[in-house]
Amino acid sequence: MTFGAKGGEFAEAYIISHEYGHHVQNLLGDLQGGGGSGAESTAVRTELQADCYAGVWAKHAVETGYLEPLTGEQISQALDAASAVGDDRIQQQMQGWVNPETFTHGTSVQRQTWFRVGLDAGDPLACDTFHADI
Ligand SMILES: [Zn+2]
Repeated sequence: MTFGAKGGEFAEAYIISHEYGHHVQNLLGDLQGGGGSGAESTAVRTELQADCYAGVWAKHAVETGYLEPLTGEQISQALDAASAVGDDRIQQQMQGWVNPETFTHGTSVQRQTWFRVGLDAGDPLACDTFHADI
């Protein structure tokens, strides 16, 4: 599957791991409906946590040799690609419909920050974007 994003193979892996992060949130009961659209909204916190979980995955993927160690440039490209693509287009391709409640993402700075929190910590417990100062 192609999402039409630039940024190379890690960008694709990042997008898939972000979506898998939403799956984990769903299993944990952390996917809450609605959530508004402001900078501190539940919707943004949900997206930033998925970015953080993607970072946790990436750290372990590097440790197990699945991924080459990541450069800062690769991370920037991947997050740019993710912003360009957005969950809305991914949902449309995978489900054939779009849920507008999930359109809101954080800023690219917020997304990079939380990806790096996950990448540095390697622990999903570090990804408490619902209570942290985002
Ligand atoms: Zn998302």
